[in-house]
Amino acid sequence: MDYCEEEMYIKTDPYFFPFDELRYGQKKFIFAINDALENKKDLLVHAPTGIGKTAASIASCLKFAIEKDKKLFFLTTRNTHHRIAIETLCLIKKKKQLNNLVVLDLVGKKHLCKQTGLGLFGDNFNYHCSLLKKTKQCLFYKNTYNNMHELTQDAKIFTNKLLENIYSSQEVKEMCNAFCPYEIQTSVAKYANVIIADYFHLFDKDVFDSCFGKSGIKKQDIILIADEAHNLNSRIKSIYSIKFSSKFLKNIIEICLKLKDNYLANIFEKLYFALLTEADLMQKANRNTCEFKINKGFLINIIENTAGCDICEFKILVEKLGQLEMQKNENSQYLINFAEFIDKWKIDADGFLYYAVLEKNKEMFFEYKKECIDPGLFAKDIFSKIYCSILMSATLTPFDMHISTLGMNKDNCACLKLKSPFPKKNRTIIIANNITTKYAERNNKLYQTIADYIMSIKKSTNGNIAVFFPSYEFMNNCLYYIENLEERNFCLLTEQQNMTKHQKEHIYNLFKKSSYIHPFSILAAVVGANFSEGVDFPGDIVKAVCVVGIPFEKKTIETDATIDYYNKKFNYNGWNYAYIFPAINRTIQAAGRCIRSEKDIGAIILLDNRYLMSKYRTLLPKDWDDANIVSSNYKIEEHLKKFFRR
Ligand code: SF4
Repeated sequence: MDYCEEEMYIKTDPYFFPFDELRYGQKKFIFAINDALENKKDLLVHAPTGIGKTAASIASCLKFAIEKDKKLFFLTTRNTHHRIAIETLCLIKKKKQLNNLVVLDLVGKKHLCKQTGLGLFGDNFNYHCSLLKKTKQCLFYKNTYNNMHELTQDAKIFTNKLLENIYSSQEVKEMCNAFCPYEIQTSVAKYANVIIADYFHLFDKDVFDSCFGKSGIKKQDIILIADEAHNLNSRIKSIYSIKFSSKFLKNIIEICLKLKDNYLANIFEKLYFALLTEADLMQKANRNTCEFKINKGFLINIIENTAGCDICEFKILVEKLGQLEMQKNENSQYLINFAEFIDKWKIDADGFLYYAVLEKNKEMFFEYKKECIDPGLFAKDIFSKIYCSILMSATLTPFDMHISTLGMNKDNCACLKLKSPFPKKNRTIIIANNITTKYAERNNKLYQTIADYIMSIKKSTNGNIAVFFPSYEFMNNCLYYIENLEERNFCLLTEQQNMTKHQKEHIYNLFKKSSYIHPFSILAAVVGANFSEGVDFPGDIVKAVCVVGIPFEKKTIETDATIDYYNKKFNYNGWNYAYIFPAINRTIQAAGRCIRSEKDIGAIILLDNRYLMSKYRTLLPKDWDDANIVSSNYKIEEHLKKFFRR
């Protein structure tokens, strides 16, 4: 069922709504949620920034959850959204005097750990935590649980204190002087009305069981709010995908030698060369491409032939040495990881692509991967079990794509599409009709033309501009013409590949700072990387956002396999679902950095004439229909000057 904005009968009961007035769109949103809750439906909501999705969704679902004794899971991948959800719930608790409201804010276990240094162990963290618990070396754990695995008296008192107020996970960590914050938090889960967590806390079966198994939370009692739900598909994919590389095997060989197990070192060395030789042969047979499909049995056969024994026997040998590895060096778990990899590789499941990668640079590099290409197979199980779900995002269209690829039951889904609440006059949309970034058209002349466009946008915008490119290579080709300008009196901040969190924050802060001072900055970044999603540029931080080209996914063996797979499964919709729709949604996400509140004024510029073709244009937001079409950088300059002078 689609909720038609014009015809909908508005009947809302925003009892827990914490603000005095409902914003534009919130009434419809709350109505649709109430309907979904009453009728046990899943609801997909496409709601642009500014609707107030968090407050509207939490307020309606919380009322229902309390009345019907359900658990509300608010899942988000962003720290800022954890904070917004907590602030909203604090407000509701205070305004509506919900003294018994219990909220649990959960993050990954390693971020909650009190053991110094343990949080740094990445993939090895869980093992070290288990080891410390088992050997009774973790004092925090010992203070939390007694030998009967019940909360100690002190931990009970502490937990009861936590139930009185709403605390962020960070606050709980700081308050836990003597206890393990993770264990305390998960023991709160059974009392919680609301659990704020990440997608993996629900969609990764192992994590769900370990966090909530002991609290007895039943899936059928869960009301799910998935924030930024357009990311759900890719996040579930990454939960279930596995790989190992030549570098990883080299580390294993080194570990075996260090542990003086020459027998296993020898096998792994042979395995390294066998896998390299096979990858090389496949590359030659596949016209020197870097990636090639394999079948599941291929890797198992090579391992068995090299080891001279059955895969299960080999795994036991590896595990045994793995125990020693971890005892000798708490920061190393390569062998256990390899044993786990074998287990996961062996599992029979549909919707996976098995493939190998070989790159011949200075050093040979290979990878063997089992990539999940159908996250719907896992998500389906969750959606069919939980009470109901509210999926919301500023880019959740076409709904059919999300319903299909997430394995949801179409007959039980309702959809709501809301318009942007911000005044149209505060923004201008421009599409350039004289360029395209199609592969066949890429040359120095195009890069120069794009650089000219960027400089014209810069000249005519009284503030920072952000330019998003389809790839790093493309970006660098265009920036060459900007970096070599004779008179360059502005700061050019360029996103680099594989930036650390710290470097990213540094660039963001420089960009923010420069928004107050003439001559302002240009942020050059790549769509889908660090700055085009999940980063807010509120107020005047950015005045114009320019998206260069259509950010299609690089054509890889995985993209091709997903297209084929979806073609078969979804009635020839593979190309749309795996290639075209996600690219346009990335454009909309990047463009969305520009206007974050009703007071923001800014320009959105799309540099590619394919946005004017109906197959792409119809995928852009409906209220972008007033886009201005320009045929040169001079025209854009004229238009922007006029717009910003108003
Ligand atoms: S039990 Fe808690 S404090 Fe101890 S190592 Fe594990 S997560 Fe850290």
